[in-house]
Amino acid sequence: MNKVAITQLGEPRYTSPIDVIGEEEFYTPSVVQWPAHGNPPDQLFFERAGPRRKLFFDPKDTRAAIVTCGGLCPGLNNVIRSVTRQLMRGYGVKSVLGIRGGYRGLDPARGNPPLELTDDIVEYIHEDGGTLLGTSRGPVDVCEAVKFLISRGVNMLFTVGGDGTQRGGNALFEEAQKQGHALAVVGIPKTIDNDVQYVSRTFGYGTAVEAAVRVIHSAHTEARSVDNGVSVVKLMGRHAGFIAAAATVASQDVNFCLIPEVPFKLEGKGGLLAALEARLGWKNHAVLVVAEGAGQDLLGATGEKDASGNTKLQDIGVYLRDKINAHFKARNIEMVMRYFDPSYQIRACAANTEDALLCDRMGRHAVHAAMAGKTGLVISFLHGQYVHVPISEIARSSKRVNLEGELWRAVISSTGQPGEFR
Ligand code: ATP
Ligand code: MG
Repeated sequence: MNKVAITQLGEPRYTSPIDVIGEEEFYTPSVVQWPAHGNPPDQLFFERAGPRRKLFFDPKDTRAAIVTCGGLCPGLNNVIRSVTRQLMRGYGVKSVLGIRGGYRGLDPARGNPPLELTDDIVEYIHEDGGTLLGTSRGPVDVCEAVKFLISRGVNMLFTVGGDGTQRGGNALFEEAQKQGHALAVVGIPKTIDNDVQYVSRTFGYGTAVEAAVRVIHSAHTEARSVDNGVSVVKLMGRHAGFIAAAATVASQDVNFCLIPEVPFKLEGKGGLLAALEARLGWKNHAVLVVAEGAGQDLLGATGEKDASGNTKLQDIGVYLRDKINAHFKARNIEMVMRYFDPSYQIRACAANTEDALLCDRMGRHAVHAAMAGKTGLVISFLHGQYVHVPISEIARSSKRVNLEGELWRAVISSTGQPGEFR
């Protein structure tokens, strides 16, 4: 069995105040289903998350810190709350620092001082979207950051963020080793796009799909209320179209769904514009959903980067809107366009019930892992189980919508669109 090792800071020696039920040694396979034909994929086995009988850190000498980085995502406050409550109430840890404004808050020369989190401060925060601590993009001097953590006596850091944040967490862990400081770094992966490898579902994704469905319903109502109404809804999904695809199927209102995984052509007989014109010909209205990373090849690269070094995407939604308008104008066909770009509204939502459950489990499991002295890992929800995945494994690649899988098939069935616009 190819068990995936998790880095351990040292031998756990303190008895945990938490009751551990059953065995600690359980593993979840990375893949539970593979095609009938061809070779089975390389199978990895991830250790189950959960409390351990022996702790590496003595709770009375433990000081924890938590940081949120990158873009907003529903559930950040839920994670902050559950991490804080589990540390304080579950393990009796006395001090939890909330690092303000992302990694910048780890550099006293640039950021605001940390917030001492208490039971009271986190009491109601899960009812709101956003993050109590604030967030940012852009690099931090890891050497300064580790010096700062050492000066504040922090021995465990919880990093809530996307791929960049987890790479940053790894850099902090390695620098702490170099400076001779035993620092547990445990990540809670945040991506609204749900594109993390070895994670079945990331927190915030379900809330985003739910909010997107509400927008699509409005878009559909707008389109149906006029003659030849066309609504274009741009949704999140930089590299993977999970939100667009799921919202399409859940709403049942979408006629064309465009995702980064499926290149498409606008012009010509098999192109999107001809298909849209045909649709208006028999139904008089249409709803298009486009993921932000779709059709980037049509626009050409910007060459621009954000503060964290991520490539800036071109605006496919506006491009599509203008192309559709121009097409019908040239064809002398009257049409009414409605354009929706709800991304920031969606990101700032409070977590729905399913995500609230996910965030709570992830936050508490992160604390269990750190107290046991595990480091360099993220907590993952995989095939219905919570597991430990090394940061190096998730940093290797990211997930895409499987075009032969159940979700994309459902998109094709519910929209009636062709598999490709070529
Ligand atoms: P999102 O899903 O919103 O993109 P993210 O975590 O990927 O979330 P980024 O802005 O890319 O967001 O990164 C968050 C933080 O991590 C930034 O402060 C960035 O500078 C830092 N970071 C990214 N990569 C590294 C790295 N290799 N080493 C150190 N820090 C990094
Ligand atoms: Mg990112």
